[in-house]
Amino acid sequence: MTDTENTSSDTPSDFIRDRIREDQAGGVVDGLITRFPPEPNGYLHIGHAKSICLNFGVAAEFNGRCNLRLDDTNPAKEDQEFIDAIQADVKWLDVGWGGDVKYTSDNFERLYEWAEHLIGTGLAYVDDLNADEMREYRGTLTEPGRDSPHRSRSVDENLDLFRRMRGGEFEDGARALRAKIDMASGNINLRDPVLYRIIRAPHPRTGDEWCIYPTYDFAHGQTDAMEGVTHSLCTLEFEDHRPLYDWLIENLPVPARPRQYEFSRLNMTHTVLSKRLLTQLVTDGHVAGWDDPRMPTVTGLRRRGVPAAAIRDFIGRLSISKNDGVVEAALLEHCIRDPLNDSALRRMAVLRPLKVVIENYPEGQVEEVDAVNNPRDETAGTRKVPFSREIYVERDDFMEDAPKKFFRLSLGREVRLRAAYFITCTDVIKDESGEVIELRCAYDPETRGGDSPDGRKVKGTLHWVSAAHAMDAEVRLYSPLFAEENPGAADDFLSVLNPDSLEVLTGCKLEPSLSDVPAGDVVQFERLGYFCTDPDGSADKPVFNRTVGLRDSFAKAMAKN
Ligand code: ATP
Ligand code: MG
Repeated sequence: MTDTENTSSDTPSDFIRDRIREDQAGGVVDGLITRFPPEPNGYLHIGHAKSICLNFGVAAEFNGRCNLRLDDTNPAKEDQEFIDAIQADVKWLDVGWGGDVKYTSDNFERLYEWAEHLIGTGLAYVDDLNADEMREYRGTLTEPGRDSPHRSRSVDENLDLFRRMRGGEFEDGARALRAKIDMASGNINLRDPVLYRIIRAPHPRTGDEWCIYPTYDFAHGQTDAMEGVTHSLCTLEFEDHRPLYDWLIENLPVPARPRQYEFSRLNMTHTVLSKRLLTQLVTDGHVAGWDDPRMPTVTGLRRRGVPAAAIRDFIGRLSISKNDGVVEAALLEHCIRDPLNDSALRRMAVLRPLKVVIENYPEGQVEEVDAVNNPRDETAGTRKVPFSREIYVERDDFMEDAPKKFFRLSLGREVRLRAAYFITCTDVIKDESGEVIELRCAYDPETRGGDSPDGRKVKGTLHWVSAAHAMDAEVRLYSPLFAEENPGAADDFLSVLNPDSLEVLTGCKLEPSLSDVPAGDVVQFERLGYFCTDPDGSADKPVFNRTVGLRDSFAKAMAKN
């Protein structure tokens, strides 16, 4: 199933934007403030990009503002590394973030006061049940919960206990502050949810100032209110939490009333987008890190060479709705490939080299041929590529017992070398095991530039690199991390990891002009795909990542339908 409806050129239109328009027209809100509120317990992924583009996009369209807020309420799982990475990724996505960052922890003192306020009005109590007991008392979807034996403590006792919780008198998990709502509610989120728990872990920003922390559910809506957020746009799983957020807002002296609208999460084929699972891939070493180019993280995509504009374009094509769907990974690839086809410079690289000796080409002679940088953009001009007697071609471009339609090299067949000459294969050299290790060819000096004066046609055009001038490189080819379309549905998602998701080729041969591809630029290796440099490489030992292949399986699938 696909989950796409907008095309990127449309002005965005969806139920959220409609509601915002209504809220503004009806005078329900004044101005517009949204926010993107990640928990700094992992790196951002393409699913977050959907939320980022929506929140920042809406803010820009409605002349409002979007806050980037780090929801840092659980120091046991959070880290400065994530705080930094989230900001770097949002900045890179280039969605109009001004660089100002907010933290839920900025408001810890106020949140604490509001917790005391709830205690004072008899709407919160300190519970001594431990987590397991609480779970047991909570009931199930079909059975109501039971009141904790500590539920009827007096306001004074609760205040005293809560202050002592803050003072560090109790062990982690020994007590918790809970809202006093309704243990029989049909909505489990309303069965006296925990508002504060004791966690002794150094907080990236407040250090050891606190040993009690608000839960996400308590902090979230109140922080939205403090920031004057008018529209709290979040994913569907928060729909069932909305009654709790409304309850808290109603019972606290908050300065504003955010409106929460929920939309469906992005799910994509051949990947997982749960931070828990992504964390496991990293910590268990199934990938090289959060920025492994196979990861669906923003940093992984960036390292893979994916332009931020391609991610924004992809997100712009998704529907913002309440329907859960799964988007084809091929759509993202299409959004990456399409603009690169117009913009990327063409270069020649031979990934699996086979030596070709052009026997009638003078030994020691080198000439420079002019190769077109981008056939789709005349202004990109041409470059000089050295040509000589010994070159490399792609191993796959030779076949011994070639079928008729194999328009590449085979004994006696003639092909065109891109921007150079026609060559004909005259001999095949093998090693003792029978493997082809070299071809002997003859060139036609009249065909320089790739045309024959006698009008003779050849069907195949091969890329090549002059052996003496080639630069050696490592090239990393990526395939989907998961072979299965829906790895999240497997009993063990690790069991459906694609064992061939990374292929590392060494001894690849590059034309000399590939020595200085700037970081972040993507070039097309002719006939092979789009590639960018990887930071693992250096000037004399370059490493290239395949950003995306040439074949557009998505466009093909669409055409077929
Ligand atoms: P987890 O994967 O553990 O549920 P999370 O991805 O929701 O965690 P948060 O840091 O809470 O982590 O996410 C920040 C915001 O990004 C939230 O508002 C959430 O709704 C949104 N978001 C997260 N995943 C997606 C997704 N796949 N599609 C769209 N929005 C998402
Ligand atoms: Mg979340």
